[in-house]
Amino acid sequence: MARRRQLYEGKAKILFEGPEPGTIVQYFKDDATAGNGAKSGVITGKGVLNNRISEHLMLRLQEIGIPTHFIRRINMREQLVKEVEIIPLEVVVRNIAAGSIAKRFNIEEGTRLPRAIVEFYYKNDALGDPLVSEDHIIAFGWACPHDLEEMTGHAMRVNDFLCGLFAGIGIQLVDFKLEFGRQWDGDDSHIVLADEISPDNCRLWDTHTSEKLDKDRFRRDMGSVKEAYQEVARRLGILPEEGNGSDLKGPEAVQ
Ligand code: C5P
Repeated sequence: MARRRQLYEGKAKILFEGPEPGTIVQYFKDDATAGNGAKSGVITGKGVLNNRISEHLMLRLQEIGIPTHFIRRINMREQLVKEVEIIPLEVVVRNIAAGSIAKRFNIEEGTRLPRAIVEFYYKNDALGDPLVSEDHIIAFGWACPHDLEEMTGHAMRVNDFLCGLFAGIGIQLVDFKLEFGRQWDGDDSHIVLADEISPDNCRLWDTHTSEKLDKDRFRRDMGSVKEAYQEVARRLGILPEEGNGSDLKGPEAVQ
């Protein structure tokens, strides 16, 4: 089968031209990085698990009316998504202090925040993805006030829904990162949820033991990273069949 055109390679995913115009194939790698690329490694089977977990969460979110880029899963490591114009922002929602907010404000990790907090970071590796204000976003033209309002509204709804979904399987949703894209329809555009939602970009703690079931296990050299992702998939009821999909190495493996 002919190789498809690669559009972009990120730290954890590769994007290929899709089979129809306006579509993209998102390929989930096993590569993991942390600290803006300062640390890197391979977690065998992570791509397969994230593909399944993200598919499951995007479908559940679509069911409650959140527009997403997700179309369908193609195979163990790939999913078909709509082509969108990515907004260069990382939208982080936090329920419990951990990671950078704990450090920035000297809050003990694990402290419940007074309410959910939405933060925006400018997606720029060279600058280390700095925290930005809504004024920066509008003044520098990364998004207009209407886009910002839509992103914030979607992010809060995603948080409410996912907090409940994870609580039902004994997991606390500490925080997570979303990315949004603009989908054009003639001269009109609307905001859709893009990228992925997986233990790579959420903090997930077991409700009873506070055990970390997310990428902090890799960032903090805690070990058992794949096992933690598997546990999330198992509790969601979507653990892939035996085998980690390592037989599927690239886009040529499709079909
Ligand atoms: O590092 P920090 O505490 O700001 O991360 C907040 C949340 O956003 C975490 O769930 C983390 O996994 C996610 N995140 C991400 N990609 C980044 C930065 C943070 O997925 N570049």
